[in-house]
Amino acid sequence: MTDTINKTTNKINLKDLTQNELEEYIISIGEKKFRAGQIYKWLCEGITDFDEMTNISKSLREKLSQYCTLGNLTIEKKFVSRLDGTRRYLLKLNDGNYIESVLMKYHHGYSICISSQVGCAMGCKFCASTKNGKIRNLTSGEIIDQLITVQRDIGERISNIVMMGVGEPFDNFDNVVRFINNVNNPSGLGIGQRHITVSTCGLVNRIYELADMKMQITLAISLHASDNEARSRIMPVNNKFGIEKLIDACRYYMDKTGRRITFEYTLIQGVNDYDDNAKALAKLLKGMLCHVNLIPVNSVEGTGFSAGSAESIERFRSIIEKYGISATVRREMGSDISAACGQLRSDGALID
Ligand code: SAH
Repeated sequence: MTDTINKTTNKINLKDLTQNELEEYIISIGEKKFRAGQIYKWLCEGITDFDEMTNISKSLREKLSQYCTLGNLTIEKKFVSRLDGTRRYLLKLNDGNYIESVLMKYHHGYSICISSQVGCAMGCKFCASTKNGKIRNLTSGEIIDQLITVQRDIGERISNIVMMGVGEPFDNFDNVVRFINNVNNPSGLGIGQRHITVSTCGLVNRIYELADMKMQITLAISLHASDNEARSRIMPVNNKFGIEKLIDACRYYMDKTGRRITFEYTLIQGVNDYDDNAKALAKLLKGMLCHVNLIPVNSVEGTGFSAGSAESIERFRSIIEKYGISATVRREMGSDISAACGQLRSDGALID
């Protein structure tokens, strides 16, 4: 449990604990086991003060507040899109760092896009999150707290999670797996694995590891190019794990889990959006249980990249479909509040 003790406050972030660990902790401080279940429920409610735990005695509340925190996040600012109601939250961690989460409303309910790290080390050329490099991993408690905090803010249940915010989830693998297990807990937030999507730029060894866990989450792979030369130019990770190794790992994942993989392909005008690129992509994915999500590149200052016309994007989509690969164009959400893919940052810079 030592790594759950916050280095800034020297206190345990209770949201870092699984229900079982919370039980062990509560017993270790001389309390009855069932108290842990009550406390766990309060944590999932997103309470911000120990005194909100109305079914817990004052003495236990005091003891807890002495050694523990209820979480590390506060809402610093929120932006609401005038276009589609998407909300971007700038959240402050208690070490002064910032992360961002984005809430989207779909006909099937709310979906939240959450961050896994402060900053990102992957260096993708089109993405704002990686500009200042990686500052640190988020703990599992800080990951789950994004959901809890936003859910409390809107007063409604969030039913889907996409891990596509700031950071590379597989570069923080253990905490991400811990988070998934914790958010699944039916006596807590109870979000099933099939309602969780984790997106990776392609850390191949972790794809194998996840496959062996046989989870039922949706795996999304940021592919963005179908040949090594083009991919390495925009995604440095490709120099370590080339496309062949990545696709092998994806096939293994599908075999092990039976789950369909989503391939994300950000369309950048003049870089990867030619007809030949579409044909090469279809050829690469032929016979795989998969879906392609096309994302017109969102503007990020200093990258010089832009998306092609709506017609050119539709043309790209129709070519891959002609070759039998299902593909959709991702609906852009919250672009007026810099909440779209690749526009999230962790420097706390505010864009009104
Ligand atoms: N690190 C993870 C998850 C974060 S990014 C990953 O790489 O998958 C979520 C998705 O948005 C990824 O597919 C990413 O490549 C894409 N993306 C990043 N910058 C973008 C931009 N400027 N426009 C469109 N999509 C972008």
